Amino acid sequence: MEKIFNHLNESQAAAVKQTEGPVLILAGAGSGKTTTIISRLAYLIEVVGIPASNTLTLTFTNKAAKEMKERSLSMIENVAYPPLLCTFHKFGLLFLKFNIHLLKRANNFVVIDTDDKKRIIKKINSELPTPLIASEISRYKNSLMTPDDAYKQTELFSYKQIAEVFAEYEKYLLENNLVDFDDLIALTYKLLDENPELAKATSQKYQYIMIDEYQDTNELQFKLLQKLCTVHNNLCVVGDDDQSIYGWRGAHIRNIMEFDQDFSGTHVFKLEENYRSRAPILKVANALIEHNRSRLGKKLIATRGNGDDVTTLNSNDENEEARKVAAKIEKLLESGVRAREIAILYRVNVLSRSVEEGLNRYGINYKLVGGLRFYDRAEIKDLISYIRVITNHHDDFSLKRIVNKPKRGLGKASLDKIELAAQKKGTSIYEYITQAPMEELEGLVRKKNAATLKEFAKNIQEVAGIAQASTYEFIDALEETFSLKDIYKNMQDGQERILNIDEFYGLFRDFVKKSPQSSLDEFLNELTLQSEQDQVEGESIYMMSIHASKGLEFEHVFVIGMEEGFLPLTGDGSDLEEERRLGYVAFTRAKETLTLCHAGSRFYKGRRSDLEKSRFFNEAGLCKGSLKCEKNTAFKKGDLVRHKIFGTGRIIGVSKSGREFKLKINFAGTKRDILASFVEKL
Ligand code: ATP
Ligand code: MG
Repeated sequence: MEKIFNHLNESQAAAVKQTEGPVLILAGAGSGKTTTIISRLAYLIEVVGIPASNTLTLTFTNKAAKEMKERSLSMIENVAYPPLLCTFHKFGLLFLKFNIHLLKRANNFVVIDTDDKKRIIKKINSELPTPLIASEISRYKNSLMTPDDAYKQTELFSYKQIAEVFAEYEKYLLENNLVDFDDLIALTYKLLDENPELAKATSQKYQYIMIDEYQDTNELQFKLLQKLCTVHNNLCVVGDDDQSIYGWRGAHIRNIMEFDQDFSGTHVFKLEENYRSRAPILKVANALIEHNRSRLGKKLIATRGNGDDVTTLNSNDENEEARKVAAKIEKLLESGVRAREIAILYRVNVLSRSVEEGLNRYGINYKLVGGLRFYDRAEIKDLISYIRVITNHHDDFSLKRIVNKPKRGLGKASLDKIELAAQKKGTSIYEYITQAPMEELEGLVRKKNAATLKEFAKNIQEVAGIAQASTYEFIDALEETFSLKDIYKNMQDGQERILNIDEFYGLFRDFVKKSPQSSLDEFLNELTLQSEQDQVEGESIYMMSIHASKGLEFEHVFVIGMEEGFLPLTGDGSDLEEERRLGYVAFTRAKETLTLCHAGSRFYKGRRSDLEKSRFFNEAGLCKGSLKCEKNTAFKKGDLVRHKIFGTGRIIGVSKSGREFKLKINFAGTKRDILASFVEKL
């Protein structure tokens, strides 16, 4: 009990003790929201005596889930088995394992990642842009639309085409028993929606539900939560409207704004002390976010006392920026700061390259989070494809990736013929190869190839047999049978790839040791769910996108690329308020010092361009006495601006009105006088 309440303030403790009914904890960054829900979980189990298995705690990243689990378990004395504390997607995965049979599907399905999804789409349609189709399919699924709904909903030819791709994509997933990320939640919802008894039983099981980062839930996740609350309303959510940064992915800020209307009798708790950042950092973050209009507006008081002022780092170009950042980091490290307490954040991933070079020159170790992930490397994807085919021989998608790796002399033309023949028979490629008589195969491809294919299928079957008997022996059998390391022996970067493969084998053995009961497909699905944040471990400084930094904290934070066009990102579809929230998330990761960097020019998209300092410097109150800053953020005749109600217009006159500027703006022919603070510069 003491362990739980030792480090909580009054409001936090009150929220912990409010175990019954809907609870909303609404508070700014670093105010101890996450701390509060894990303490609440410990309280429920340890003090109230709720069995751990009757609780469910969800968040958005694996890294966060892992940390939360460790922290809550350290507060609980005796727990027979740990509570379910995981990401929404992991919850969906577990749920589908037990219930997907109700959709007449086998539970040895494989979860595909974004890269797989794109490859499947590209195969179906290579004319329309793949990323567009991928995001539309995601949108349809999150709106619970079938391909038919999507088709009927639009008059546009290209969108009708996208709906058709969606239909084929769904067919492909079903045929190969694949499930994509969106399905993990959409199918879970569908099952609960179509089976009221199941919804009731599931809700009865999870009597106490807690959600971190609630501001980033989308409509589908909200609906799922409603189903989980079928027989009770013990739902506790925590979040911060100012940190909602997934609008582009359909996150619904309304979910948090209207929580008390969705769940009647809500107890609202506000936390107003910030325990993370030194006062000057908080002041800058608060000043920035105050420029947003659609916000609830919360108080956030610094409790950690004064500290260094926020530093602005001006550079002529990205190379100078990289040098300056590296030099500062070197100093920090020399003074005894631990590397893992330093982070470099950016809005767009391309900005990391120049800083990486700078760090390399200074010999500073760094970990790039969300770059080319370990699991995205070609050699690792090949291995994963092997394991996929071994667990599910009918996974044509993966089979095609590996059938000629290592080279077995099978050309694309031969493969196409085999695939077509399989399609005609209505079987998978594997099935076709094993079932077709030798003569039939030889009629399609060269004799030698026919024999190779038969042998390949036989080997797959043998290794699958070993896997079933012992997952531990499986990995050696895989390497022995297919000699996968040999593929890279004579390649230029072969050594590194072989090391990666060994690392993968090591990870596999680890997994088997930790969960000896698990099957191969469980291993695969775990892998696919690894979020980019999982790489944050060990002793090196971190570089990551602002999105990936959510919920984390570091002693020293550098934000690079604070220029118009990069932060805020401007242009089609960008939302200035969401950009500001990203700035707020970035600033509030810092505990001790915050350094904001901008460069006068950058080389990107093949040329060097001059850049303006981000308006966020001015908004955050960091421009006193700096002419350049004021010039860049002042309004002038000819500027394009946006008004919440009147839309986009052009400034045709500027005059002073008290301490503010009054603008005359032409909105599509209608001229209006408007105070400068009511519009955004585009
Ligand atoms: P974010 O909005 O970034 O997710 P948060 O509100 O979840 O932040 P936490 O991560 O829970 O905040 O806490 C921020 C820091 O403050 C942590 O280092 C935590 O240990 C510390 N902290 C939380 N509550 C208290 C408290 N009552 N007294 C002292 N320190 C606290
Ligand atoms: Mg948190």
